[in-house]
Amino acid sequence: NVSPSLLPDLQLPRKQFDVNAIRRDFPILQERVHGKPLIWLDNAATTQKPQSVIDRISYFYEHENSNIHRAAHELAARATDAYEDAREKVARFLNASSVKEIVFVRGATEAINLVAKSWGRRHIGKDDEIVISWIEHHANIVPWQMLAAETGARLRVAPVDDDGQILLDEFEKLLGPKTRLVSITQVSNALGTITPVRQMIQMAHRYGARVLVDGAQAVSHLRTDVQALDCDFYVFSGHKVFGPTGIGVLYGKPDALADSPPWQGGGNMIVDVTFEKTIYQPPPARFEAGTGNIADAVGLGAAIDYVEQLGMENIARHEHDLLIYATKELLTIPGLRLIGTAKEKASVLSFVLEGFRTEEVGAALNREGIAVRSGHHCAQPTLRRFGVETTVRPSLALYNNYDDVDALIAALRRLKSNNT
Ligand code: PLP
Repeated sequence: NVSPSLLPDLQLPRKQFDVNAIRRDFPILQERVHGKPLIWLDNAATTQKPQSVIDRISYFYEHENSNIHRAAHELAARATDAYEDAREKVARFLNASSVKEIVFVRGATEAINLVAKSWGRRHIGKDDEIVISWIEHHANIVPWQMLAAETGARLRVAPVDDDGQILLDEFEKLLGPKTRLVSITQVSNALGTITPVRQMIQMAHRYGARVLVDGAQAVSHLRTDVQALDCDFYVFSGHKVFGPTGIGVLYGKPDALADSPPWQGGGNMIVDVTFEKTIYQPPPARFEAGTGNIADAVGLGAAIDYVEQLGMENIARHEHDLLIYATKELLTIPGLRLIGTAKEKASVLSFVLEGFRTEEVGAALNREGIAVRSGHHCAQPTLRRFGVETTVRPSLALYNNYDDVDALIAALRRLKSNNT
């Protein structure tokens, strides 16, 4: 086994949340764009990577690289240990009860498609109902539409109020004996709304429905506890929680995974193959056909170490204070309409600015080194609910500070004053 002293330094626990020290862990934050220091406010699209994650991936390729689970040699053992160690970190991070509940996939999108094509095809039939909400990412709409088209099931959509909050009474009215699945985001990527998933799960379970929680926008901002939530499936992407792209997670309750057939066939997922018959592995291997993204799973493990040593509660507190400050400041800009004003929010500040197209605002900010997303954010039904096609979307993460927000506000003020 690899000597721990050879592993990259994962930093000692910090006594307090020191955002300036944290910023030094992220080399890309030293980057300059158009001659200005980069201000990364596009965290809902993807997050930047700390040095410890970058080093962990390099270390893998320098000292451990091999295919896993297959060979008798030393490097296969190192790579397998590193990969399975990452699975343990994910299980702890989500408070799953066992590593057997953790399936590695490419990302949240692939995880949702896996559930639709595996569990969904087996359990959802003609006239059955799938309930989602009005504030879902396309990744949590399209796979269910495809399944509904294939099976004759019906997609039902829980509405939101003018602040972007789920109308729980209306949601409950959609539930009934035909409801097989509720699939719901924990944090909206377009509005930042934190949804009452726990209550929604309890309601859905009363009707015997399974619940999938899309945690893509939640895991980097809130502590996740799949046992406390009691969800049946939980999905997230590594790249939105300071890990690499191309790796993500499907958590499933043991009985839900056991009740799901394989969705892709190939190596790794079998116990025995003859031309007549194949015996499949139990979960999670059953869902991991072919060579997975081994190095990036290991990188995700390092990202989880990183956020855990900072403490999710510390991260949430810092971001909450910053979000309140940013909201207050944005609202001082004449003609700015904030979209998504839920009481419980995380990270996202979506807005339109009177007199400007959203892409103009995005381009003006870019010229000042400020990265935000402007567009539909893969959530067209969400934005149309508020009468717009696109918004400008700054989104915060643990390394953002008050200076970042001040720079955003100053740039927006300059844009407005240059135009008058
Ligand atoms: N769900 C939500 C709420 C998201 O914000 C995203 C990505 O923006 C996804 C799902 C899809 O994630 P990925 O593209 O990493 O698969």
